[in-house]
Amino acid sequence: MVMDINVAEIQPYTNDELWSPEKFPMPPRSSLHHLEPIGVGTPMVESLTSYMTRLAHSHGVFVSTLLSRVVNPLLQRTFIKNYTSRGLEPFFNRSHTLNGYGTIATDFIEVLNQLTLSNNLKFLTLSPFSNILVTKGLLRPYKAWCPICYKRWKQNQEVIYEPLLWSLNDVKVCLIHQHPLVQNCPHCHRQLLWLNWKSSLGYCSQCSQWLGGSSNTSIVTQQRWIADTLGELVANADRLSSVLTQERIQQSLTYIVHQVSEDNIAAFAAIHKIPKNTFWGWYSGKNRPPLSALTQICYNLKISLFQFLTQDFNLSAIPDRDQKVEMEYCKNTRSSARTLDFNHIENTLSLILSQAGESLPTIAEIAEQLQINRRLLSRHFPDLCHQIVTKRRNYVRMSHLTAIEHCCQEIKEAIALLHQSGEYPTESRVCELISNPGYFRYQKVRLLYKKEVQSMFSRL
Ligand SMILES: [Zn+2]
Ligand SMILES: [Zn+2]
Repeated sequence: MVMDINVAEIQPYTNDELWSPEKFPMPPRSSLHHLEPIGVGTPMVESLTSYMTRLAHSHGVFVSTLLSRVVNPLLQRTFIKNYTSRGLEPFFNRSHTLNGYGTIATDFIEVLNQLTLSNNLKFLTLSPFSNILVTKGLLRPYKAWCPICYKRWKQNQEVIYEPLLWSLNDVKVCLIHQHPLVQNCPHCHRQLLWLNWKSSLGYCSQCSQWLGGSSNTSIVTQQRWIADTLGELVANADRLSSVLTQERIQQSLTYIVHQVSEDNIAAFAAIHKIPKNTFWGWYSGKNRPPLSALTQICYNLKISLFQFLTQDFNLSAIPDRDQKVEMEYCKNTRSSARTLDFNHIENTLSLILSQAGESLPTIAEIAEQLQINRRLLSRHFPDLCHQIVTKRRNYVRMSHLTAIEHCCQEIKEAIALLHQSGEYPTESRVCELISNPGYFRYQKVRLLYKKEVQSMFSRL
C-alpha cells in the first residue's frame, strides 16, 4: 500500500530555506583588510602614509609590494612608471604628498577606500581643506615624530602609527607631550621618507632601529625657560631702556664673575663651557656676547636675564649651591671631591641604571648631564659606572644581533619577491630591497644570502 504523503507537511521549510542565499544576500567583501583608521575626528588622526604602511603590514607584505602589485594598477593616473627601484624611488621621494590634498592624495584615497571598503580615508589627508590651503611649505618631505608617543604606545601595547599632524611643517612639538618632534634617526642620523621600500612604523627605514625614546626633558625645560626669560625681557623693555647702556653687559658680567668665581675668569668660562678667549672678549667689553650665550649663562645660574641685566641677584644667598660646587671643582680638582653632592650623583646613577637598555646614556653623557668630570665620576662610583657600561654594552650587542637577524629575514623575503617577479636575485637587487644594505659586510649575512640563492636554484 502506498501512503499518500504530503511532502510540504513533513518539510514545511522546503520552500522557505532560512539559509537561502537569495533571502540573505552576502554583504560585499573588501579585497584588503577592512583596517580601521586611527583617531578619525580627533587631533591625533592618522595620516594616509601611516595607514598604508599598517595596511601592508597587516597583510604581511612590504609597502612597496602593496603599492606596486595592488594599489598602482587601480590608480587613475600614473604615478609610478615601473616597479624597479628607478620607478619607485621618485614616488617615495614625494610620498609626503599622499597626506596632502592634490590629485595624488585623492586618487590614493579613492583606491584605498575601494580596496578596504572604508569611506573615511579622506580625513587622513588634507584633502578636506583643499579650498583653503597652499602647497608651499605645507608638508614635511621627511618624517618627524615624537619619541615619547612611540615609547608610550609600545609600553601600553597600543598600535604604533603616525598622526597626520606630524606631517605638517608648522607642527614642531608633540600635542600630547610638548616634546619637540624629532626629524633625524637618533642612531644613523638620517632623515626618513614617509613611504619607503620597507617602511615600518616606529622604526628607522634606513637602519631598522627603534625610534621611540625617553623624554629629553632637560632640553624642553630649558627651551621653556628661555621663552619665559625672553618674555620677561620684552615685557620690561620700557623699564630697562634707561639702564641698558653700551657697557651694561660688561658690567653685569664683571659682577657675576665676582659673585660666582671670585673674579676667576678662566674658571667661570670653564663652568659654562665657553672658550676662555671668547669669554675674555665679552668680559673686557671687546666683543658683545650673543643672546644665546647670555641666556645659557643665566639658565646655568638660575637667574633671569632681567635679573642679570639689572644686577638684581645675589648668588651667594641662593641656597642651591650646585654651581658653587662645580666652581670649587674648577678651582682645585683635589679639594673638589669633598664638595661634590655624592647623594645626588649616586641617586642619579641608580636611576639611570634602572632604565631599560635602550635609553642608557654613556658615562660621558652622564658626566655632562651632571656637569662633573667623567674620570671623577668613574673614580668615585666605580661599581655603578661599571654596571651601567655593562648593561649598555649588552644592550648594544643584543640589538646588533637582532638587527642582523632582521636583515637576514629581509633578505629571504627580498629573494622570494624577486624570484616571484622572475628576476634574478643579484646582490645589488637584494640590497635595493632591504633596509640596511650595509649589513652585507657581515659574514653571517653574506653566507645566508649565498645559501638562500643556492637553495632557491636547487628547488628549480
Ligand atoms: Zn608625544
Ligand atoms: Zn636610522
